[in-house]
Amino acid sequence: MKQLTGLLLLFFLAIGGVSAQTAPTTAMPPQHQASTAQAAHFDVEAATNAYMAELSPAQRARSDAYFEGGYWLILWDLLVALGVAWLLLGTRLSARMRNLAERITRLRWLQTAIYVVMYIVLTTLITLPWNLYEGYFREHQYGLSNLTLGGWFGEQAKGLMVGLILGTIALVVIYAVIRKATRTWWLWGAGVALVFMIFVATIAPVYIAPLFNTYKSLPDSPLKTQILSMARANGIPATNVYWFDASRQSKRISANVSGMFGTTRISLNDNLLKRSSPDEVKAVLGHEMGHYVLNHVYKGIVFFGIIIVLAFAFVRWGFGWAERRWGERWRLRGVGDVAGLPLLAALLAIFMFFMTPVTNTITRSMEAEADAFGLNAARQPDGFAQAAVQLSEYRKMHPGPIEEFLFFDHPSGWHRIHRSMIWKAENLDDPMVRSGEAVTPAGTR
Ligand SMILES: [Zn+2]
Repeated sequence: MKQLTGLLLLFFLAIGGVSAQTAPTTAMPPQHQASTAQAAHFDVEAATNAYMAELSPAQRARSDAYFEGGYWLILWDLLVALGVAWLLLGTRLSARMRNLAERITRLRWLQTAIYVVMYIVLTTLITLPWNLYEGYFREHQYGLSNLTLGGWFGEQAKGLMVGLILGTIALVVIYAVIRKATRTWWLWGAGVALVFMIFVATIAPVYIAPLFNTYKSLPDSPLKTQILSMARANGIPATNVYWFDASRQSKRISANVSGMFGTTRISLNDNLLKRSSPDEVKAVLGHEMGHYVLNHVYKGIVFFGIIIVLAFAFVRWGFGWAERRWGERWRLRGVGDVAGLPLLAALLAIFMFFMTPVTNTITRSMEAEADAFGLNAARQPDGFAQAAVQLSEYRKMHPGPIEEFLFFDHPSGWHRIHRSMIWKAENLDDPMVRSGEAVTPAGTR
């Protein structure tokens, strides 16, 4: 289940927004902003370096350490998932949970549901210390979280409730499919998983996100007028802009254009509003609108649909292989037996581990597209470069090319600044780009 939720999460990340940590917005030296007179001699590399220099060596070291630690977490997460699966299967606890469910009811689907509820609660408890380190203590260690320990547990409890409801429904349907189509279940199962992901992505902005944050209509302001104008100019059917209290959880700046089939909405968080200049807000929202206009949700469904089919094919092969070796010892009765769920979850975790560079590259490519769209839509290259600097506290600024390929689900800060400065250099004859500089002189941001 954790893997299924992980997959859903991955999908949200793919279609979701710039999720960002901010540096204080005071004292940003804009010497790098070329004056109109210098326009002809605009030096892209020097301008990029000037933005990079806004971060002290200590800030860079901290951000690098946080992000590079995340590479190892991918491996530890896999080992934890495998350890949990081994514990449930090797001790035959999983088989006993199935037997218990069979004693409670004769209805097959209800047996599955009862097992799944026990499985989700049990695995959540077993992995709690690890998740506490990863999600609470480590985040606080780097100053990225605003949650108290009680607040963190509250969020976990809500997440568990959502996981129990959605996970139970999804797995009851998937197991029904597995038992019905004994040979082709992996294809049908992948289809069901995909349809379910689309369903969750549709309802999430309206029914799930408000469980964790309060969404309100953004009060009227010149900025809101400009955001809605940019939306209309780009064919986005939004008549309102929402803001939400992400500062409850963290200091990260973030915005998104989320939902589908009529649930589309533009949201930005209070951190972005409080910590960033209007130019940055417009630059970030231009990026988010790019996700919408470029149909990244639907492209994401196609890309991740392929990944899910491959994942189920791998799980089908892996399950047969493992069952021949250990099936009897673990008291499993075939792939349709819900007691094998820990094995399915472990195989899915292994597959997704090795697919990390692929899924990262799919999302990173779409993010780069949204960046390019946002620069053209918002025409705020300095706003976007500054936002990239703000994102640096939790994302390494300047990785090597292989490192970026393997581990980055967004372009690196250096790439985003560099591309912004190239865009700026090519658009300096536009009075709007130049006037953008004129209204953000030193010290006023
Ligand atoms: Zn994005």
